Amino acid sequence: MNNTDKIYNLAVSGVQKLIPYTPGKPIEELERELGLTNIIKLASNENPLGPGKKALAAIQATLKDLALYPDGNGFNLKSALADKYAVDISQITLGNGSNEILELVARAFLTPELEVVFSQHAFAVYPLVTQAVGATAVVAPALNYGHDLDAMLERVTDKTRLVFIANPNNPTGTLLSHTDLEVFIKALPDTCICVLDEAYCEFVGDQSAGNSIAWLKKYPNLLITRTFSKAYGLAGLRIGYGLSSPQLADILNRVRQPFNNNMLALAAAEAALTDTEHLQNTLAVNAQGMQLITEGFKALALEWIPSAGNFVLVDLKQPAMPIYEALLRKGVIVRPVGVYELPNHLRITIGTQTENELFLQALTEVISVL
Ligand SMILES: *Cc1c(COP(=O)(O)O)cnc(C)c1O
Repeated sequence: MNNTDKIYNLAVSGVQKLIPYTPGKPIEELERELGLTNIIKLASNENPLGPGKKALAAIQATLKDLALYPDGNGFNLKSALADKYAVDISQITLGNGSNEILELVARAFLTPELEVVFSQHAFAVYPLVTQAVGATAVVAPALNYGHDLDAMLERVTDKTRLVFIANPNNPTGTLLSHTDLEVFIKALPDTCICVLDEAYCEFVGDQSAGNSIAWLKKYPNLLITRTFSKAYGLAGLRIGYGLSSPQLADILNRVRQPFNNNMLALAAAEAALTDTEHLQNTLAVNAQGMQLITEGFKALALEWIPSAGNFVLVDLKQPAMPIYEALLRKGVIVRPVGVYELPNHLRITIGTQTENELFLQALTEVISVL
């Protein structure tokens, strides 16, 4: 190790071993690398319809105020969320993406002596935020690619300060029943905080909305996280939120930056909540696209994991990287999931009809020459 490398030894031990999150490949990067145009990206569960008109108008109207600091309390957006979910403003924490809420809860509650339980194949940010603060990750084996709540509960001890559950889960798209989930939350010791990550709840339909929020009255150790990045089409602005007891929200709000949400994001998110038409279109396009893509898999004799989100994992029954790379050469970016211990799967975000058809055509060509 040379002198400049010694600086690594100065970092806290969790960070020394940290392998950063790998995002989906940006379109511009593939353009640069292969000189392709007309690239489609179905890699990051983004909304293929883009942001809604109301969000765009709110951004336009806010631009003139950009010299000012944003409202550090996000009062207008919090009020709109409080109305929508019938919670008190004091129960809301706004984040720079819901990813920030996951970080805040880790920072506020974990020490190197404590443990965090989550599932195999669960969202990659859980191990990252755990390791960054030096806490110990305890991974429960998955059941049929989804969370095995019994296996998770068995691993909860008096050292467990957090459990993370993604419902639906990314990347598998698996969905837990609300009955099973509540049994699990109820069984947790009150020294353990349950983070219920509902980044995709809008795609689930009737059984999702509101249901888990009613639990907040009963479980002061429950934190529900949601986002404007997926169904609302605002991933580039970075805005998400946590819903919890006022006490838990107070703790999270103590450790966040004073101005963690930018002014455009606050305005756009508030407007997006009123844009039911855009949300309905998004859900319809997703449902149709999910059907088209899974029928395409069927025609190619490929298996997939039934998904409650806006993405689907296909099982290629062989190493997925060569197929991922062949798709890249055809200008189609999807997501390898080797870091999730799923080396034979690819995750496909549902796109517009045109994008879905282009993807299926590219996949068919790639598979036919194997
Ligand atoms: C995308 C995603 C998030 C976070 O998204 P943000 O853009 O930070 O709001 C959180 N959890 C899961 C499971 C996700 O897939």
